[in-house]
Amino acid sequence: MTTYARYPIALERGTGCRVWDTDGREYLDFVAGIATCTLGHAHPVMVKAVTEQIQTLHHVSNLYYVPQQGALAKWLVEHSCADRVFFCNSGAEANEGAIKLARKYAHEVLNIADPVIITAHASFHGRTLATVTATGQPKYQKSFSPLVPGFHYVTYNDIAALETALDELDNGGRRVAAIMLEALQGEGGVRPGDRAYFQRVRQLCDERGILLILDEVQVGMGRSGQLWGYENLGIEPDIFTSAKGLGGGIPIGAMLCKSFCNVFQPGDHASTFGGNPFACGVALAVCETIERENLLANVRDRGEQLREGLRAIAQKYPNHIAEVRGWGLINGLEIKADSPLTSPEIVKVTMANGLLLVPAGPKVVRFVPPLIVTADEINQALSAVEQAFASL
Ligand SMILES: *Cc1c(COP(=O)(O)O)cnc(C)c1O
Repeated sequence: MTTYARYPIALERGTGCRVWDTDGREYLDFVAGIATCTLGHAHPVMVKAVTEQIQTLHHVSNLYYVPQQGALAKWLVEHSCADRVFFCNSGAEANEGAIKLARKYAHEVLNIADPVIITAHASFHGRTLATVTATGQPKYQKSFSPLVPGFHYVTYNDIAALETALDELDNGGRRVAAIMLEALQGEGGVRPGDRAYFQRVRQLCDERGILLILDEVQVGMGRSGQLWGYENLGIEPDIFTSAKGLGGGIPIGAMLCKSFCNVFQPGDHASTFGGNPFACGVALAVCETIERENLLANVRDRGEQLREGLRAIAQKYPNHIAEVRGWGLINGLEIKADSPLTSPEIVKVTMANGLLLVPAGPKVVRFVPPLIVTADEINQALSAVEQAFASL
């Protein structure tokens, strides 16, 4: 249905951080299926996990216990602050589940009849009706009214704005049930959360007994240099969501929470495909590989190298580049507002130079390579970016 404005290439095969198009041209892939292909392309661990699982049992429904689902849930709770996991198939669906859980908690525990969830401007939480409403960007919402009631937006990383909103919304009766934020805003322009802000947000949630939901769909699963984005902020959420990198490119989403707010009972929420043996078997292989190959150290080192290189390029083009920012292997290069250059333009030029990148808004170029990226590949990407600025 032409819902995507596509680049004029068709990709045919890949290995590691490289992909080839149908004309045989090679590209260095710093998009990774939009921060999704954790282990790159055709990684032997994924090939093995996919093959073994499809040859054994791939789908049975959640009417029965699924051993791979149990094993993946166990890995996730042992490697996070959560105690409970619900599996689904995408980021939007995971966030939808988090919204439903927070609303049920509001009704049953907080005694709020008309709950509101506060989210941030410039956020991105998905394209279902509830998650596109949670998304604080009018461009994704226009034409889809009436939107879902019960959301309110505040400026990200601005504690005064949040305190004002809490006071105004709760004035004359309790309404706020939860605050839902990205630890780092991905689509909104690769904006890392501010540590002091998030610590105060945590405090406000504790004082009021309301839930802190973190959307870790893009920044989680090791991309930030820590397994979860919230580890960079020194706080723990009550509920968080994962998807993109979790299955390394096999569709899977997860909504995780602490025991105290797990108010779901049998029958409350469900997904036919969610948590099937195939997706869970592969995701578990991805998780274990991150740990076994100590990929978080690689993410931190390669991220440092990338930001250093991009900052050197920024110094050469001070009229065009405003800032380089990010955590681990989720980084953004922001073009100055008064520069005529745009991120889609830069992405097109680097593509012609054999480097795939993706915009995060009109002025930010995003770098989200597989977590296995090497120092040589980072250098090659830096050359392509430098070449692009030289030619523009
Ligand atoms: C991509 C993304 C989503 C939506 O995930 P889908 O799998 O496309 O539904 C939600 N939140 C964040 C932060 C994302 O980056």
